[in-house]
Amino acid sequence: MSYSHKVKEELYRHIDEARHCRLSELSALLRFSGQLKLPLRIESDNRMFAIKCFTLLQKTFNIQRYAAEREGFPCETPFRLEVSDPAENERIFSALSNELLLQRGCCRRAYLRGAFLAAGSVNDPQKSYHFEIVAQEAEEAELLCKLFQSFSIEARITKRKNSEVVYIKDGESIVDSLNVMQAPVALMAFENVRILKDMKNNVNRRVNFEAANIGKTVSAAVRQRKAIELAKKLPEFEELPESVKEAARLRLEFPDLSLKELGEMCEPKVGKSGFNHRLRRIIELVEDEL
Ligand SMILES: [Zn+2]
Repeated sequence: MSYSHKVKEELYRHIDEARHCRLSELSALLRFSGQLKLPLRIESDNRMFAIKCFTLLQKTFNIQRYAAEREGFPCETPFRLEVSDPAENERIFSALSNELLLQRGCCRRAYLRGAFLAAGSVNDPQKSYHFEIVAQEAEEAELLCKLFQSFSIEARITKRKNSEVVYIKDGESIVDSLNVMQAPVALMAFENVRILKDMKNNVNRRVNFEAANIGKTVSAAVRQRKAIELAKKLPEFEELPESVKEAARLRLEFPDLSLKELGEMCEPKVGKSGFNHRLRRIIELVEDEL
């Protein structure tokens, strides 16, 4: 099962307690599946989608009559549900189209959940960070962006064929969206992958950093050895203090050792900067030729 399916399974099972939230979610489920119109007719190939719409409709409008229609419900495909009474049809439709639906934070969460269930998807975080909800109208896409914004989540819109796609690319914002829609299990799974990925990136960054440092050390050693070879040909070299000549000899003899290690081989021992200072005196002799 894809990650997107897992998220949806979790969200399909979530039924809000409050009537206002259920109205909001049902409104988004119908609107984003292109079915918020008169007469109300809910149709879907997806059993979970149909059952969720049915459950919300039944609980929200307290319509027992649908129970009978539900008998054969899970068997036929596409799953279909019609509200036969015209007056009831109008009543439900106007309740679902009410603009005051989205005033509460809880209802905005429910609406985003409904929109995602009807027209959304989210990539497996192992692959890439991508979350999207496809809207048919620019107005719908803008509404979703505003709703995300009310939870401090930055969503963007891009055109795809005849639709407007609301998308989120940032891992942290996707986690926030899963939280807003109330999918804690899927959220944890996403976070686990994200933490591992971040750790890997950090390790890689560190390895690269250390490799760069090793490179620096090597190129410094190459430069020092070249300087010594050149300086040895000069008469001034012989006039240098014994300690400096010792440093030169050690550097040539042990090209792979660090300055600290070379310093420890001196008699008496000398620190890294002391050893470096001795090599500096040789480098100064031939600086122009390096
Ligand atoms: Zn609510």
